[in-house]
Amino acid sequence: MKTMWAPWRMDYILADKKDECVFCDALSKNEDLTLFKGNDTMVMMNKFPYINGHLLAAPVRHLSALEQLGKHEMGELLATVERSVDILKRVMRPDGFNIGLNLGKVAGAGVEEHLHFHIVPRWFGDTNALTVFAEVRVIPEHLKTTYDNLKPHFDNLTI
Ligand SMILES: [Zn+2]
Repeated sequence: MKTMWAPWRMDYILADKKDECVFCDALSKNEDLTLFKGNDTMVMMNKFPYINGHLLAAPVRHLSALEQLGKHEMGELLATVERSVDILKRVMRPDGFNIGLNLGKVAGAGVEEHLHFHIVPRWFGDTNALTVFAEVRVIPEHLKTTYDNLKPHFDNLTI
């Protein structure tokens, strides 16, 4: 198994963790990295991405377990993941994706109280150390640029 090495994640590990939920916070404010706010689901950029284009898709309701999702919400959430993948494919042309849920701290959940899917685009050779080094310095710029590239597509999104 290859480990994706992302040194800029140290900013997250060392940052003060606030009490409020980042997802609920993004829904209530004009959060600048939120791509989509629907009736039941939302999509935002991961501020501390493993790789450029790392998105998070979550239900609007603040809940932590899959069994708390209604059937309708479950369907909307999966549809949101599918549409997000479609947009990333068109805009960023990745070679593949890692998509998944981290349930519980032991599984690596940073925000375990609000369920969310990680959508991580992958490119051949993206574990290359030089690429990672090069991105350390420019990742904040990448975030905003990527956001600006993706936002118009999410503005047209209907779930
Ligand atoms: Zn929440």
